[in-house]
Amino acid sequence: MLSCLLLATLTCAAPAGAPPGAPTVLAARPPTPLRIDFVSVGQGDAALVTSPTGKTILIDGGPREAGPALTAQLRARRVSAIDLVLLTHRHEDHLGGIAQVVRAVPVRLFMDAPFPHPSQIYEELLETLQERHVMVRAATSGRTIDLGGGAVLTLLGPPDPPIARSRSDVNANSVVARLDYHTVGILFAADAEPQTERWLLAAERARLRAQILKVAHHGGRYSSTAAFLGAVSPTIAVISVGEVNGYGHPTPEALARLERAHAHVYRTDRDGTITVETDGARIEVTTARGKREILAAR
Ligand SMILES: [Zn+2]
Repeated sequence: MLSCLLLATLTCAAPAGAPPGAPTVLAARPPTPLRIDFVSVGQGDAALVTSPTGKTILIDGGPREAGPALTAQLRARRVSAIDLVLLTHRHEDHLGGIAQVVRAVPVRLFMDAPFPHPSQIYEELLETLQERHVMVRAATSGRTIDLGGGAVLTLLGPPDPPIARSRSDVNANSVVARLDYHTVGILFAADAEPQTERWLLAAERARLRAQILKVAHHGGRYSSTAAFLGAVSPTIAVISVGEVNGYGHPTPEALARLERAHAHVYRTDRDGTITVETDGARIEVTTARGKREILAAR
């Protein structure tokens, strides 16, 4: 079982905020919060999850030029190993920085959506994973990954059977995942297309509600449909997007729908890296550029 694999391989991440050279505390200690850093990687996605028990998951790795920002984030967070790298789909703006991460720290498991999208950069990533002896598995819907301390990652997608004849079938068949910690839910919508959202509404409606939403497809025009946002009902919406991008992301249409859904919007292009911390009841959002917001989960 995947969850058992992860349970058997605790990370070596030092506790957040521990001073350099501090002794490793092996005795039981109060649980640290669940933390998600939506790393500012330009036009692309990358989110580093640190569980209450110190397990680490990287969901996507930004474009190729994001490698240095990601490895700097790992150093800043004192992450010395990653339990799981989850690639939501095989586009360069999500996978480009992963090889550099894999070369920087040991990665125990790599999972990605099985939908094919051959490219040289993906082949290079597979070679790097092989060189570094990283276990590779397909990310299929229904899998749950126990992060310990009550935090669980559930893969709601990719859609099964795969979506065809969409604007981008690679995007449409992204891995959509939700992270739960007590009463707090975080939904990672990858680059979901409207068809993905419709599939999720039909197949997983009861599991879409979440206080925090990583907005689909960088705030693209067609994703984040009103029906989907209604089901998720996010308080916080995070858009991972580059300051200069040729796509017009985030689009006025998606921003207007998020506003109508009463979501507080954070954007990596304006806010820099966005950090969410939660003890399972209280949610704190801080940004690299000094914004701070605290809210109760319910
Ligand atoms: Zn993308």
